[in-house]
Amino acid sequence: MFRKVLVANRGEIALRVLNACREMGIRTVAVYSEADRNSLHVRFADEAICIGPPRLADSYLNVPAVISAAEIADVDAIHPGYGLLSENANFAEVCRASNIKFVGPPPEVTRLMGEKEKARQAMKRAKAPILPGSEGVISTIEDAEETAEKVGYPVILKAKAGGGGRGMRVVREREELPKLFHAAHAEAANAFGNGELYMEKYIEQPRHIEFQVLADEHGNVVTLFERECSIQRRHQKLIEESPSLQVTPKLREEMSHTLCRSMAEIGYQNAGTVEFLMDANHHLYFIEMNTRIQVEHPVTEAITGVDLVKAQLRIADGERLEEILPRKLEIRGHAIECRINAEHPRKFTPSAGQITAFHVPGGNGVRVDTAQYAEGVVPPYYDSLIAKLIVHGVDRAEAIAKMECALNQFIVRGVDTSIPLHQAIFQDEEFRAGKFDTGFMERFLAERTEA
Ligand code: ADP
Repeated sequence: MFRKVLVANRGEIALRVLNACREMGIRTVAVYSEADRNSLHVRFADEAICIGPPRLADSYLNVPAVISAAEIADVDAIHPGYGLLSENANFAEVCRASNIKFVGPPPEVTRLMGEKEKARQAMKRAKAPILPGSEGVISTIEDAEETAEKVGYPVILKAKAGGGGRGMRVVREREELPKLFHAAHAEAANAFGNGELYMEKYIEQPRHIEFQVLADEHGNVVTLFERECSIQRRHQKLIEESPSLQVTPKLREEMSHTLCRSMAEIGYQNAGTVEFLMDANHHLYFIEMNTRIQVEHPVTEAITGVDLVKAQLRIADGERLEEILPRKLEIRGHAIECRINAEHPRKFTPSAGQITAFHVPGGNGVRVDTAQYAEGVVPPYYDSLIAKLIVHGVDRAEAIAKMECALNQFIVRGVDTSIPLHQAIFQDEEFRAGKFDTGFMERFLAERTEA
């Protein structure tokens, strides 16, 4: 096993990975920006190296600085966490050239699956269900009109290089197409430096359902069931749960089969998430793949008992899935996660500053992943996620009851948090009944503004 690992991240995920390493007897190296000097990931690592000023581009995204730190500390591997450098194929290539193991898929696979339109075609070749749409990128309005006629309105234009919900436009009729094509192209060019678009059938009121996969470096693949992530605001997930009420054992089995086959064909390695949309007829269609550990991985850990970060490290070290996983994977109970953000619960404005009180809930079936503490600081430079609250119950009703208790006992003073928003969502009848789609938050927030 690796002797020493560098964690190229900050916040709760850095601490999560450091703890996994420590439990496995691996020495740990943290990197940090000047704004994170007093962070827990720095305090709890065996060694910590400052890699630059607060701005992301100057520190956590600064490839030469991260690689220099890894060389100075003489590590065997780098775990990138999520976000930041985790899906950067160039970074993985530099790691390889520097003889440092990147804990994730090889750069070639990240390049294929990280580009949305290429991933779509790869999944199609591997006979996984994709939405009807363009064969490749669409370069002219005429092209777009022709494809839209074939697919049938409504359609959605998406950026080939997309992410974070940008460069997307829903087109409901032919007349709107030219205007929306130009808008999506301009937005994509601006956000990603690449304005190329592709087209898909638009699904009305879909559910967002994703499957966790693990693949070793010997061609073996398993899925660790699904997560339901339809509670999103502006394409950002707020609440995730597993299993999904909409996925029958038969569908789960079929998807698992399809995914194991397609991931093996693509040559996928390490942990990954394959995202789907579910239509009103309960059909699933591939939309994109995330080639890293996800924010919401703990709900899968809760129901399977598998430590996904340790599995990532063991896979990267060349172990086989059969050595890592229990012989039979089963779903036990129900798990739900709330993302606690430092932001105003109604206006959603980010709230940075000094934390003055911090009390986390605990008890049977309650897990909190956070790197915050009383007297900690939320810097204004980074993502607003400050904690993840995960509960695990025998069934969904018990998980909901546990979450309500836990939210009530989660106390943060000094900055605004999304806790009151979560409390309100857990009161909602539609949510409690599990009858929601990706439009839930828009409806929920509109009703609250009226009230
Ligand atoms: P990004 O990479 O920018 O996050 P995704 O392709 O993952 O983009 O899509 C983000 C969200 O946009 C989905 O979770 C869903 O809510 C919505 N969406 C994407 N594609 C479609 C589609 N074809 N039909 C309906 N909604 C879609």
